[in-house]
Amino acid sequence: MTESSPYKASRRLLLKISGEGFSKEGETALDTERVRRLATQLRELTSEGVQVATVIGGGNILRGAQSQQLGIERGTADYMGMLATVINGMALCDALEANGVNTRVMSAVDIHKVCEPFIRRRAVRHLEKGRVVILVGGLGSPYFTTDTAAAQRGAELECDLLMKATMVDGVYTKDPKKFDDAEFLPELTFSEVLEKELRVMDMTAFALCRENGLPIVIFNMDEPDGVVRAARGDKVGSRITS
Ligand code: UDP
Repeated sequence: MTESSPYKASRRLLLKISGEGFSKEGETALDTERVRRLATQLRELTSEGVQVATVIGGGNILRGAQSQQLGIERGTADYMGMLATVINGMALCDALEANGVNTRVMSAVDIHKVCEPFIRRRAVRHLEKGRVVILVGGLGSPYFTTDTAAAQRGAELECDLLMKATMVDGVYTKDPKKFDDAEFLPELTFSEVLEKELRVMDMTAFALCRENGLPIVIFNMDEPDGVVRAARGDKVGSRITS
């Protein structure tokens, strides 16, 4: 924590990286430079003793919600989406290992040639040993999102912070792309989000964080050193607490 950090530094965090963080805008191909930048930040955090678990999205490759337009059954499309997260997760694993960071990829979907199955106690052990735990396959069931997986795993692994790296700077009173008078909200409570009907993540994910008192930081993944600064308790993006 730097002296000016207004929030408590995280000791064990859950970082949700959406699929967009793995590709250039509108593309599905991997953007290895972006993945490398992320890996460098995670190396810095682990070298400081911060325990890092990360839930990986797959929206750059496929989202189940696109099933109709693709002419694919929803359940099948959702499993395809879960497999997409495995591809992104393996890319992050490779970038981290190349940077000298020990990692374990753990999947909610059985795919044992490329990663371990997710087992809570094992994941905790990896974290305690300083390995970055890369969680792929979401929750392993259709009709969920990786945001929900992040909230669930964040609670299950007793993380003290859920950091959601996205393409927006944080939470606004309304959509800043559509409304010029949209106001940025750097600090919020869970109740305020509900009262003002703000959309910060899907409702299942949000409810899980609220029920378990898991603070959330929502920030732009392109913010320089955003991951490191948010974890240290600096002012980055929007922070939602009890
Ligand atoms: N998915 C799912 N169950 C889960 C997690 C993910 O069915 O527990 C599927 C769902 O189709 C989702 C896709 O995987 O659209 C990719 O995940 P997501 O859309 O959450 O990725 P992101 O938006 O973070 O890139």
